[in-house]
Amino acid sequence: MESFTAGLISLEEALQKMLAQLSPLTERETLSVFTAAGRVTAAPVISPLNVPPFDNSAMDGYAVRLADLASGDALPVAGKAFAGAPFTGEWPAGSCIRIMTGAPVPDGAEAVVMQEQTEADGERIRFTAEVRAGQNIRRVGEDICQGASVLAAGVRLGAAELPLIASLGIGEVEVVRRLRVAVFSTGDELQPVGEPLAAGQIYDTNRFAVRLMLEQLGCEVIDLGIIRDDPQALRAAFVRADREADVVISSGGVSVGEADYTKAMLDELGAITFWKLAIKPGKPFAFGRLSNSWFCGLPGNPVSAALTFYQLVQPLLAKLSGQQRPALPPRQRARAVTRLKKTPGRLDFQRGLFSRGDDGELQVASTGHQGSHVFSSFSQANCFIVLERERGNVEAGEWVEIEPFNALLGG
Ligand code: AMP
Ligand code: MG
Repeated sequence: MESFTAGLISLEEALQKMLAQLSPLTERETLSVFTAAGRVTAAPVISPLNVPPFDNSAMDGYAVRLADLASGDALPVAGKAFAGAPFTGEWPAGSCIRIMTGAPVPDGAEAVVMQEQTEADGERIRFTAEVRAGQNIRRVGEDICQGASVLAAGVRLGAAELPLIASLGIGEVEVVRRLRVAVFSTGDELQPVGEPLAAGQIYDTNRFAVRLMLEQLGCEVIDLGIIRDDPQALRAAFVRADREADVVISSGGVSVGEADYTKAMLDELGAITFWKLAIKPGKPFAFGRLSNSWFCGLPGNPVSAALTFYQLVQPLLAKLSGQQRPALPPRQRARAVTRLKKTPGRLDFQRGLFSRGDDGELQVASTGHQGSHVFSSFSQANCFIVLERERGNVEAGEWVEIEPFNALLGG
């Protein structure tokens, strides 16, 4: 075991080495808020408005001046203020104003008393509870002040951010330009999805999986198809991909047996490091620089390819696109409810299904067979069970770390 795993580099070290070399794209473009989903802000978004834009009522009830309440007498109603229809008349001393939620608070009002704390006394209104200055008034600029930054640079825009921008009357937003990512699969055995299979052939899962994840991440995908295990064809693919893209992603051909000419070629075309990662699945992974782009070589096994994309390429793309927040959700503790088979030596990303147990704690079950060709384990899972490098078998009842899937894997 020692000799097999000696010399493997840890995921953390690989990530650190990889990310240290990258700088975010600097080119930007201006987009309508309606087409900016998934993009990353290139500059802070500044509010042109106060939110709320004026003092307004948080309740249906009555606007009052405190001095008018001192006697405890019921007050006549001098007018009405509705959302979109402010009270504009004279407000005589010793009276109150009927007011609805969201309506501008009339000048001079010191509080709004909710309807439930009042009683009708003929035409007059009696106040039945103590009234504090300022109660039920939402102040101008309380949420956002004019000129304040509502989003920093480096924020990925989604359903939490774009409506906020739109609510400030901002129709356009400055974003980092889309990353261009070229993708191809290598292997004589691969057939495009949808074609009949001849003896010994398999479908090309990886290019499809990678393309889907890239599209979800808002990248522009340049799909170069399946490349045969042939030096000429490979070289042509690398040269074209490097010319057209910011990032080149291949799959297959990085394991020991057949990697040799790929390695030699990459040495000639750029500076590529082949890593043997201390993770399972996903041991072989290549990373480096071509003349114009960054290169990531994923392993051929579909589970390994998806996992290394998710754990390594995803943070790389996030950094290149200027994103500030980590691409992956934080890990949490959960109790294993099934036994988990584990050999010490590599950090293991088993696929698991977590839920809240009857005791209120998180619990997690394995999805079963964890082979690096069992792609169905992803669709059955909602998290990775992350087992430390030196850990052995886990018995039911032991605590483990889980990492919930993000949206890329349907989380
Ligand atoms: P390789 O790294 O090229 O030696 O491939 C390792 C394993 O993954 C082999 O069983 C390949 O047939 C399989 N494989 C390689 N590329 C793909 C792909 N794009 N889709 C599905 N399986 C693949
Ligand atoms: Mg191959």
